[in-house]
Amino acid sequence: MAAEIIDGKAIAEKIRAELSQDIEALKSKHGLTPGLAVVLVGENPASQSYVRSKNRACHKIGIYSEQHDLPKDVSEKEVLDLIADLNANDKIHGILVQLPLPDHIDEHKVLNTILPDKDVDGFHPVNLGKLMIGEQAFRPCTPHGIQKMLVYSGVEIEGANVVVVGRSNIVGKPIANMLLQKQDEANATVTVCHSRTKDLAAVTVRADILIAAIGRAEFITADMVNENAVVIDVGINRVDDPAAKRGYRLVGDVKFDEVSRKCKAVSPVPGGVGPMTITMLLYNTVESAKSTLGET
Ligand code: NDP
Repeated sequence: MAAEIIDGKAIAEKIRAELSQDIEALKSKHGLTPGLAVVLVGENPASQSYVRSKNRACHKIGIYSEQHDLPKDVSEKEVLDLIADLNANDKIHGILVQLPLPDHIDEHKVLNTILPDKDVDGFHPVNLGKLMIGEQAFRPCTPHGIQKMLVYSGVEIEGANVVVVGRSNIVGKPIANMLLQKQDEANATVTVCHSRTKDLAAVTVRADILIAAIGRAEFITADMVNENAVVIDVGINRVDDPAAKRGYRLVGDVKFDEVSRKCKAVSPVPGGVGPMTITMLLYNTVESAKSTLGET
């Protein structure tokens, strides 16, 4: 039987509609408009495109956004000074530095300069530390989006065997931590796999919820999942496709055709985790604005 498709786009739209209402209320009751500042260094086309989508998404739901474009040879000090200004700016509730940064700029130093209270990407060590010990904090957007996708799709997380393939700081480790917490929307039994895992398929096939964040096109095949598995595909990979207008198409880390014929539910690429990631950035920005009123 064909798997249920977990439609990240539809879930994202639902959450954005809820956020839109929150923003209206903040504006009308408190005269407060949530504000996001995006810092872009250099002219990486993929980064430019991500930043454009983020600005568009803000505009659409009524978040004020401003974009700071800096040349690729900007000094580290200039970036840090800009962040200090944004930290002190009351109109700005969230600061996002688009990664990657050029090699001469220390990424950690830059991210650590953002005030944890404005770190809507959830990458500051203070927020990651709070996440680990189960305290309220901004959660990194992609893992938070994955958790919300599961919740909105009615997937039972409590007690489930979750297998995460990938241990990056932006996806694998935080999602594993989030689903492990002794909290609502969590309480799973979590296994984390990586490139040194022995007999990966023997681990993944036992998963009730399998999260693939590997960065390898169509790596998870039908023999690696069971019939009752819910599969979340985080990967975004370009594969050459002469028939496509751009000469390539995007595929996930999951071999969708065969896995979707076997498992219980699966998220597609595109239209799965991607739209959820930007949505949780908007969510964090609204939460940050609310926190200035003491409402969260
Ligand atoms: P990283 O490259 O940082 O991490 C990849 C992980 O996969 C590593 O932990 C690596 O193991 C593991 N891995 C690699 N090869 C294998 C293998 N053969 N078997 C088992 N594990 C393996 O990637 P990210 O976490 O940053 O991203 C993962 C994917 O998700 C990418 O396609 C990325 O584009 C996508 N992504 C999508 C987002 C979205 O919004 N939809 C947001 C962020 C990322 P090891 O640690 O041992 O090297």
